[in-house]
Amino acid sequence: MWTYDDARSALRDVLRLSRAMTFKAAVAGLPLGGGKGVIMLHPGQALDQDRRREALLDFAETVASVDGRYLTAEDVGTSDADMAIIAQVTRHVTGLATGSGDPSPWTALGVESAMRVACERVWGTTSLQGRRVAVIGLGRVGGHLARGLAEAGAELVVADIDEGKRELAAALGAEWADPAAALRARVDVVAPCALGGILDDRSAEELRCRVIAGAANNQLASEGVADLLAAREILWAPDFVASAGGIVNIAVELEPEGYARERAEPAVRAIGETMGRILDDAAAIGATPLTAAMELARRRLAEAGVSA
Ligand code: NAD
Repeated sequence: MWTYDDARSALRDVLRLSRAMTFKAAVAGLPLGGGKGVIMLHPGQALDQDRRREALLDFAETVASVDGRYLTAEDVGTSDADMAIIAQVTRHVTGLATGSGDPSPWTALGVESAMRVACERVWGTTSLQGRRVAVIGLGRVGGHLARGLAEAGAELVVADIDEGKRELAAALGAEWADPAAALRARVDVVAPCALGGILDDRSAEELRCRVIAGAANNQLASEGVADLLAAREILWAPDFVASAGGIVNIAVELEPEGYARERAEPAVRAIGETMGRILDDAAAIGATPLTAAMELARRRLAEAGVSA
């Protein structure tokens, strides 16, 4: 659920997001296709509780109408309580407290695993002790990620457009910055955990980090930015690989045995291995991590008889 200037921008976004979901599921080796839903808010529109419920129920009717070909789950602007409302209309909803639960902590765990591997490729160690990391967007994923990084001994710079997140920053002993400054801060790693498009031609020139690994979907404003980052020797961990922890956790709920945390955790941690393989493939063929990750996704899709 997010604010868009007009229906065209919302449609463009949902199509880009669903394409990214296809690649995300393929690279993670999941028997799932790509799909995404957007509930569009107009600029300045704030929904009271009743209107929000109505919007969720309308969305649930749409989900129900495609009869299981699309399964919805939490993402930006929605919570597991919202999924419980949708579940009143359709069973094609995942991430409920009675199933695999909120995917965000799992997404954060997958990002941390991917970040450790990217750091290893640059500095020779997966340890985050003393590593300076800027987390941009302290929401459900960014908040969990920041907590994990603080526990691992990282020094944090954090940013959010919501001033209310300063409290979490203080609790973690993190330095607060405005989002534009955090992106350009002199840090080892930048973790984009807000919305997409944060890496464009201009910001790619201004970054001062060596690694980028975060949860935000569609971080690159255009695919050419991957080349700019590589030319500056900034290692970008492809977002659709790093942020797969949530859907990997949800996929466990869809297995015949039902959800079990014990099966979810190793599967989410394996994102680090997948990221390592992609970064090594990229280095071996002199390509960007984006190219190597897309190549893996396309191969998996071709094996499943789908072209992309
Ligand atoms: P969220 O809505 O809980 O958090 C987003 C946070 O970003 C909010 O605190 C918001 O105030 C902040 N924000 C928005 N615009 C910002 C800006 N310009 N600068 C700084 N902060 C800004 O969302 P989330 O579930 O944590 O998801 C974060 C990102 O990760 C999204 O791109 C989402 O699509 C992606 N993602 C989430 C999951 C998941 O499990 N929730 C899974 C995969 C990918």
